[in-house]
Parts: sequence; structure tokens; C-alpha cells
Amino acid sequence: MQRTGKSQKTKLLNKMLDIFIKAGWKKIKIWTIAVLIFTNTSVSGGESVVVLFVIDGLQRDAAEVAAANGASNLRFLIENGVYVKEAYCTSPAPRMFLPDGSLPWGTSSSPNVAMHTGTHVFESRQMDDIFLSARRAKIKSVFAGGAVNYEEFTTPDFCYAGSLSDSMVVQHGINHLKKDGVRLIRLHLQRIRDRWTGPEDKLDPASEYQKAVIKCDHLLGKLIEALRSENVWKESYIIVAGDHGMGITSQSDHPPSVYSSWLTFMNFYGPGIRKGENIPYAESPDLAIMVNYLLRLEPLKGHIDPSVPEATGGVTGTLLTNIFEDKSRMLKHPQMIRRYLKQEP
Ligand SMILES: [Zn+2]
Repeated sequence: MQRTGKSQKTKLLNKMLDIFIKAGWKKIKIWTIAVLIFTNTSVSGGESVVVLFVIDGLQRDAAEVAAANGASNLRFLIENGVYVKEAYCTSPAPRMFLPDGSLPWGTSSSPNVAMHTGTHVFESRQMDDIFLSARRAKIKSVFAGGAVNYEEFTTPDFCYAGSLSDSMVVQHGINHLKKDGVRLIRLHLQRIRDRWTGPEDKLDPASEYQKAVIKCDHLLGKLIEALRSENVWKESYIIVAGDHGMGITSQSDHPPSVYSSWLTFMNFYGPGIRKGENIPYAESPDLAIMVNYLLRLEPLKGHIDPSVPEATGGVTGTLLTNIFEDKSRMLKHPQMIRRYLKQEP
């Protein structure tokens, strides 16, 4: 029953009730069955709003320091949600070249594609993603990101990319929530990187970098307020994540040659998700799989380009079932990125 929509559920329930009434069952038993059907679910009702709130290059250590020093919304989501101890991105290289030198995804970096497609490789532009998946279920979506690189993302219903301030990015999300009832909100706050002067910034609450995280936190609070005023807060899921990690020099970059560039931040919050816990491991493609699951959509299709071999074409991310209250804490994650980096078999 976990992935059945509200209207389908009602139809199914009516059908079952018809059968039981014909069979002469007493009403009390019918109500017991109805209660069982409506409560046996790990995600919230069919009208959930899912927010994927990405802060560029945010890492767990920086997020924890901010949460302990005034980032009250981030702190609330961490204390009432599940964070990932070891979160890896797909390649943090700023450009995604195929072996033939082509750039099918322009200048967007790979984790930003992975968190939409649920795959580890992106051999073609013809791929399924969370926005297309949402549209098939008549769910509207918005993407807003503060760099021109994100112009590549054209599948959401409403798209904004360019040199946008963080507050404009969040405002686009709020506007479309209020005006159009979007239920998939993917935001990308970019300006934090302007304040980077070195890795020590992450742990210094007085650094300009930390102040930038606090600013992002205020905007997160503004979005939460909008979800409350639209009466959808109780059904809302908020995923706060980085797209990649950061390097270890004064340069605000994330070269794949540096391990730290691969380590990012992920925290999940919402109905049915454990509170104040952590899970050991996740990877960027898992974000797409989770968004799709929380919106109760059919599974993502991966590559839909017939020229991409079937063996490499499908979805490769993992559904993080271990974040849910009614599921086992045990999850066998294939940990492909960690194994690749550590050169393990
Ligand atoms: Zn980035």
C-alpha cells in the first residue's frame, strides 16, 4: 500500500468494502480494515511537497558548526530528521566530459545531474528525471539555481538559472508554491562559495563562510514559513544537501583529485522519517530515488536514449529505506563511490 495514491486508495477501499458488504461482514470489521489500510504507510498522504534544498559545496562539518551557532532551521531539521554520516557525490569535477570530448550536460557538474536522474553515469541528454517523473503524475515542479551552469536543467515546469542571489532563488520557489501549487521544489543556493577563504572557514563560526551558511539558513526558514502558511508543512519533506564537497586550499573549488571534494552533506526530514538519528552512508543518485519515492511516483527509467546500452542505462541509486521509522535500520548499500575511491573490489 505504500506507493498507492490517495484516490487509488479510496477506490481500492470502496472495492474492498463492496466485497465485504456482499459477503455480509459486520460494520465493525469493515472499519478495522479501513483503519489498517490508511495507517499502514511509511510516507505521508498523496499531497506531499518535497523540497530539495541544495547549498553549493556544503559539507557535514560546516553544517554542524552552523547548526550549533545560530542556524536554527538547519538545527531543527538535523535534530528532527536523519543525517548521513558519510555522503559521497558522483564526480565533483566541474565539467562532465565524455571520452569523445563532448559535454552532453554543458557546464553543470555531475552530482547535480545525479540527484535528478538517480544514476551514476550520464551518457546522453535523453534521460528520465524527477521532474519528468513528477509531470507524468501531474505534479508541478520548479528549479531555481544561482549559476548559469544550471541552464541545462530544462525539464522542470518552471526553470530559473543564472547569477541569482540566494534570496531570489528561494523566492522563485515560494512564488511557484503559492501561485502554482508546485509540489517538487529544487533550489540551489550558490553564493556561499563566494565567501570561501580556506577549509578552516568551515569550523570557524566567525568566518564569512559560516555567516553565509547562516544566511542560507534564514532563507530556509522563509521557505518553511511559506510551507506553513500554505498549510502543507505537515506533509512536507525537506532534504538539505550539498552537491559536492570542497577542496583544501584557499581556492573556492572542488577538484576530483582531492578526497574532500567527494564528501558532502545530506539530511532528510518529514513525516515517517526517523528523528534525531543518522545513517552511515549515501550517494548523490540516492537523492533522486528518494524524491521520486516520497512523491509516490513510478520508478525512474534512467537513460531513455536507444543508443545507450541497456546494461549501463538504468537507475543505479539506492532507496535509503533505513531513514524511515517503520523500516529496518539495516540497509545493504552497494557503496560504489566509496569503493571506487578506496580502490576496493
Ligand atoms: Zn556546485
